[in-house]
Amino acid sequence: MPTIADNLKQMKARIRDAEELYNRPQNSVQLLSVSKMKPTSAIVSAYQAGQRHFGENYMQEALNKQSELGAFDITWHFIGAIQSNKTKVLAAHFDWIHCVDSLKIAQRLSSQRPDFLSPLNICIQVNISNEESKSGVTLKELPNLISEISELPNLCVRGVMAIPAPQIDFVAQRQPYRTLVATVKSLNNLNLNTFSFGMSDDLDAAIAEGSTLVRIGTALFGMRN
Ligand SMILES: *Cc1c(COP(=O)(O)O)cnc(C)c1O
Repeated sequence: MPTIADNLKQMKARIRDAEELYNRPQNSVQLLSVSKMKPTSAIVSAYQAGQRHFGENYMQEALNKQSELGAFDITWHFIGAIQSNKTKVLAAHFDWIHCVDSLKIAQRLSSQRPDFLSPLNICIQVNISNEESKSGVTLKELPNLISEISELPNLCVRGVMAIPAPQIDFVAQRQPYRTLVATVKSLNNLNLNTFSFGMSDDLDAAIAEGSTLVRIGTALFGMRN
């Protein structure tokens, strides 16, 4: 059985290969290891293999892990759905929040970010396949929300996050990412340098179109129950 360290090594090699193949600068794509529903020991294994960025979806589970791993130099990303009654804890315990899709949530996060911490890094979730069931703003709403959130003192809008509808065809996988990146680049805002998209099944398409952060869980840590 491959170890977590083996899986990490293989995934990083896959990312580096895709960077080269699609003319992306070396190391321009970061790996966010998604550790939801996996034990703290799995995080420790990945950490010992050099991994520093971890993504969690469930607040209480993440808090438990953070308190066990207080001595570790981990950058914590919250990638789950945000309930407005949880913003206070999220604002105090994470470095990045990926699924912001309303001004109301952003205002709460900004006002609840403790003063002794640097501004909270935010990615705005965009519903790029216009799916009824998914959260996220439309491409049309995106520029306005970015400019409103940019006014908030304790947040730093770093970019966008997306989970497109699954597609098998490579060209079809690339299309929504291309449109999203073009929209963000047209805003000419240098702070917007994070493109949080790409998972195991569409990693290459995402990297080809400009992803800077791919979110991978199962391929590193194995299946979740
Ligand atoms: C769970 C999750 C992932 C990782 O999914 P895997 O299929 O385990 O690789 C990535 N992004 C988000 C938003 C997730 O919730």
